[in-house]
Amino acid sequence: MEKLYEKLQEHYEEMVEIRRYLHQHPELSFEEVETPKYIAAYHEKLGHEVRTGVGGRGVVAKLKGAKPGKTVALRADFDALPIHEENDVPYKSKVDGKMHACGHDGHTSTLLVLAKVLNSMKDELEGTVVFIHQHAEEYQPGGAIAMIEDGCLEGVDVIFGTHLWVTSPQGEIRYRTGPIMAAADRFEVTIQGKGGHGAQPHLTKDAIVIGSQLVTNLQQLVSRRVDPLESAVISVGAFEAVNAFNVIADTAKLTGTVRTFNDDVRNFLEKEIERVVKGTCVMTDAEYTYQFFRGYPAVVNHPDETAFVAEVAKSVPGVTNVTECAPEMGGEDYAYYLQHVKGTFFFTGAQDPNWDVTYPHHHPKFNIDERSLLVAANMLGTATLQFLQHGSVHSGSKTETHS
Ligand code: MN
Repeated sequence: MEKLYEKLQEHYEEMVEIRRYLHQHPELSFEEVETPKYIAAYHEKLGHEVRTGVGGRGVVAKLKGAKPGKTVALRADFDALPIHEENDVPYKSKVDGKMHACGHDGHTSTLLVLAKVLNSMKDELEGTVVFIHQHAEEYQPGGAIAMIEDGCLEGVDVIFGTHLWVTSPQGEIRYRTGPIMAAADRFEVTIQGKGGHGAQPHLTKDAIVIGSQLVTNLQQLVSRRVDPLESAVISVGAFEAVNAFNVIADTAKLTGTVRTFNDDVRNFLEKEIERVVKGTCVMTDAEYTYQFFRGYPAVVNHPDETAFVAEVAKSVPGVTNVTECAPEMGGEDYAYYLQHVKGTFFFTGAQDPNWDVTYPHHHPKFNIDERSLLVAANMLGTATLQFLQHGSVHSGSKTETHS
C-alpha cells in the first residue's frame, strides 16, 4: 500500500486542481454535458475502456489489471446544485445560480486521480476496477437506476463509495452497518371541505379545522404504531389554505416528508398515512386526495463489506479517527447499487477544524477541506487493492477463486 499512498500524495496537487476546475464549471442534474466529456477524456488518455452516455449521462471506465481476479466498482457522482455561490474564493463557480455545494466535484477529482494512480500500478493489479461516474444524484429519479439498467454493475463483485462530509472533521471516517442514509419520501394531501362565511360555520366543512386535526392525528403514527426500536419521521412542512379572516376555507393542501430506514416501516407508513387521512375525512364528512411520492430508498450497507472498510480505515495514512456513526436522515441514490451488489458507503470527514463556521451541504457558502480528497482516495484505493489481493473482504481467505 505504501506505493499507493506515495503516488497519491505526489498527485495531490492535481486532485485539488481538478476539483477546483470542476467547481468553477458546475452542471445541474440531467443537464451534464461538459463534465462527462471531461471525465471520459481523462480516462481515455489513460487507455481505459470508456463507455459514455451510460443510463443517459453517466460515464463508466474500466481498468484491467495484468493479472486475473475479481472486479471492484468505485462510484463518484458529478452533478451540481441550483444554488448561487457566496464563497469568495479564486475558484468560485463561474456559472450564476449553479454551484457544487455538496462536494461532488471532490468525489470526481478523487476518483479520477485514483484511476490514474491505479493505472500506473496495473502490472501488479489482480483483477478489474470499474469507475462509475454518475450523473444526477441530486434530482429524482437520479442517475443510478438508469446506469444500473444500462449495465454499469455487470461483472462487479463489490462496490465502494464515499461522501465527503463537512459535519465530520477532516481525518475522520464514519461507517455504519445497515442503514446509513434514510429513505426520503413525500406525501401530498388535499382536503376538500366546503367553503363559506366565517360567521356561518354550520353551513360549511372547514378545511382548516379538518387539516389541523389531520396534522394532530398523524403524530400518533410514529409514536404509537411504529416499533420504538425502529426510526421514522413524519413532518408536515406545508399547510396551504385560503387566508381571509372572515372566510372558511374550502380546501387545504398539506405536504409532508417521511423518512425511514426500513422498507417494512416505509410501506406501513405509506398505507397508514392514508388511513389517517381517510379516517379524519370520514369523521368530518370531507373528501380528500392522497399521493405518496417515493424518493430514494435507504442506503443499506452490507455487514462484511462495512467491517472490511472500517478495518481498512485503521491503516490508511491521514485517517485520525474511525467512528461508527448514527444514520443520517438525508437520502442518496447510492442505495440502488447496494440493492444489486455487495458493498458499502462511508463518510470521509471534510471539515477544516480551523473554520469558525461550517456551512452545511447545499448551503451557498459550502466548502470542503481539500485534504479530505487525499484521504478519500487513499481509502478507496486501499479497499480496492486489498479486496483484489485477497479476492474477498475476508483477509487471508485468498483461494483459487480466480477465473
Ligand atoms: Mn451529495
